[in-house]
Amino acid sequence: MPAPLLELRHVTQVYGTPPRQFTAIEDINLTISEGEFVTLVGPSGCGKSTLLRIITGLQRPTRGEVLYRGMALDGVNPHATIVFQTFALFPWLTVQENVEVALKARGVPPRLCAQRAIELLDRVGLDGFENAYPRELSGGMRQKVGFARAMAVEPELLCLDEPFSALDVLSAEALRGELLELWTRGQIPTRAILMVTHNIEEAVFMADRIVVMDKDPGRIIADLRVALPQPRPRKAAAFLETVDRVYAILAGQTQPEPVEPSRPRPLPSISLNKLASLLERLAEMPQSRADLYRLPEELAISSDALLSLTDAAELLGFVTVAHGDIALTPLGQAFAEASIQARKEIFSSRIRRLPLFSWLLEMLWAAEHHQVPRDVVLNALESRFHREEAERQLEIAVTWGRYAELLAYDDSTQTISLDPTGITALVQSELAKTLQK
Ligand code: ADP
Ligand code: MG
Repeated sequence: MPAPLLELRHVTQVYGTPPRQFTAIEDINLTISEGEFVTLVGPSGCGKSTLLRIITGLQRPTRGEVLYRGMALDGVNPHATIVFQTFALFPWLTVQENVEVALKARGVPPRLCAQRAIELLDRVGLDGFENAYPRELSGGMRQKVGFARAMAVEPELLCLDEPFSALDVLSAEALRGELLELWTRGQIPTRAILMVTHNIEEAVFMADRIVVMDKDPGRIIADLRVALPQPRPRKAAAFLETVDRVYAILAGQTQPEPVEPSRPRPLPSISLNKLASLLERLAEMPQSRADLYRLPEELAISSDALLSLTDAAELLGFVTVAHGDIALTPLGQAFAEASIQARKEIFSSRIRRLPLFSWLLEMLWAAEHHQVPRDVVLNALESRFHREEAERQLEIAVTWGRYAELLAYDDSTQTISLDPTGITALVQSELAKTLQK
């Protein structure tokens, strides 16, 4: 058994102060051993970055223990380094000097620093760029300098927070290859890697283990081993099957709506155009169904964006999700084939059933002139969501409500109101209800 490098025991992080507290991650138990390359995947906001900050000691959890080589972690972990999505390089230093800074900070004698920096830059493929300044480099090359700087620290535990997500496709692929090569050939003293990614293919491509998280509250829902030998051809059946499995876990299974009204399912942040594209694309497929894992490439979106889209489509009753497959419902089919105006009507009839909308519409219906200041709605939402999420939920609700022609928003007065079309729709549905009684 390889020795555990890092152990998290019952780690919980609560943000905010009463009464507006919320639990970002709850009861996380995780062990990372020497020799492991672990990836952490999960929807936005499930607490992946929070977890990395706790592991590297940048943040102390509200509850629970962090052990490094069996010892309780106190303050910043000197054996762990974190590499962020975009590296903060010093713009006034050359590429080489940016790496030397990290070496000097570790106490490497100055005469050895230059030599060591040149070696590291060579290793990440930046030979010949030592004297360039960051602004002269492409995004991919700057990221390489960042990697070289992280390697200069020679961390035992290398933590990476979505390191490739800000890069173009080619640079990302090249850097993945370089990191894997350094790792698998043992060219770096790093004992374990923990990488956050929202790209499931990337996780399967690189890692020995995939830890899957879900949110509300952030928690681990699966921990699976990827037993495929390196290098891993992306088109191999076993590769695709693993990707499929992770999607199946992440997208969950269709949950019946509504959930408890006291805890409305948050509205996912999506592009309505992309939602329409997803439904249209599904409608063209045999039996109007598809493997989830094929869709990011098909629709040219990230897997994270796809999961938000499926979440929204499921919430609206346009699709069902099971075993890594997504299928259009008859309603979703109708939407995909409808005219622009008919789509708005279908969308409107669906969102009115969502707890958050029925609550908001009721509030507007009762208000004078059918309008309410934004702040009032926000305050009310804050009893259910933390501040940042309440703002996001309101923004999504307004976007969806405008598209459905139910709501209007006046930016100059910061008021939300019922759209005249919305009033008609509501009057009609009230009337229908009365007539049914
Ligand atoms: P991820 O990296 O998975 O997207 P994060 O760890 O960044 O998730 O955030 C998890 C949740 O905690 C989110 O809802 C986020 O808004 C919230 N959050 C993160 N950092 C803070 C903070 N310092 N204060 C309050 N809320 C925070
Ligand atoms: Mg994050």
